[in-house]
Amino acid sequence: SIPLSYFAGVARLSRSSILVKGTQYIDRMAGKIHAILFDKTGTITSATLKVESVMPKGISSKEFIRLLCHVESFSNHPIAISITNEFKVKVDAESVKEIKEYAGRGIEGVVDSKMVIAGTKEFLQEKGIVIDLEPEEEKNLLFATAVYMAVDGRFCGYVVLKDFLKEDIKETLQRLKQLGIKTFLLTGDRKEAAEEVANKLDFDVVFANLLPQDKARIAQSIKKEAGKAATVFVGDGINDSPALALCDVGISFARGASSIAGEAADVILLENSTTRILDLIDISRFVRKIVI
Ligand code: ADP
Ligand code: MG
Repeated sequence: SIPLSYFAGVARLSRSSILVKGTQYIDRMAGKIHAILFDKTGTITSATLKVESVMPKGISSKEFIRLLCHVESFSNHPIAISITNEFKVKVDAESVKEIKEYAGRGIEGVVDSKMVIAGTKEFLQEKGIVIDLEPEEEKNLLFATAVYMAVDGRFCGYVVLKDFLKEDIKETLQRLKQLGIKTFLLTGDRKEAAEEVANKLDFDVVFANLLPQDKARIAQSIKKEAGKAATVFVGDGINDSPALALCDVGISFARGASSIAGEAADVILLENSTTRILDLIDISRFVRKIVI
């Protein structure tokens, strides 16, 4: 039987906007935690990115935005949501066919019988698309988060976005360090973007350029070195779901997160603040102390 205090604990957690899918996760958060692994986009950065510029190539700006919004309206990724919110294009869902999203890479679909691909530079290049940019542009894009687009196999421009760190993440990492918990950043974004974050925040280890299976593989190896201590993953995207499922405790956000991440997670934070993870640890430890 489940001790009564767990119910009080679950109630107290829900008052703090934390939903726990089982009492075993309270036990795991109360016990020794070896490491907490964080995703970047939407997890330690705010779910809304700012669209900084649009650079169409050989296509009108209006048509570029129209095609991009038509495919991105089918994605839940923070980048996709930020783009569709920015341009407010009226999407004709009927005109879009064969949508396919590639976790951590991008999305493709047929819009008015035009083949549209949007995503990372590497993703487009893998599809055989040639991206010819001026050296000056290449340099500017090195540290930027950008979405590249191709239509019918031809590169036709990019959008530059800027992301913002959540205000609370610094405090969260400091507290976790005091608690003796290791912190990792696992991102699908580029090395330069990850380094920019790493320069501002005190993560123990940073990994970039990861595909979903890479995140899971790294989580697995950290879990191995943790022994009996818990390994926790915090993420929001479809690219995070393998790692969320694999760790002892998977934590996701209710807002902005993909439904697949929500299903894979054991704990859902109803507020976007990462300090809720500290509350989860504190309340879990309090509950365990009064369980006899
Ligand atoms: P993170 O691990 O930091 O949350 P993701 O793995 O979700 O990042 O995404 C990695 C990169 O893949 C993004 O920076 C973006 O360039 C690209 N990407 C992913 N999904 C999409 C999408 N729907 N549209 C455009 N680009 C995308
Ligand atoms: Mg993410």
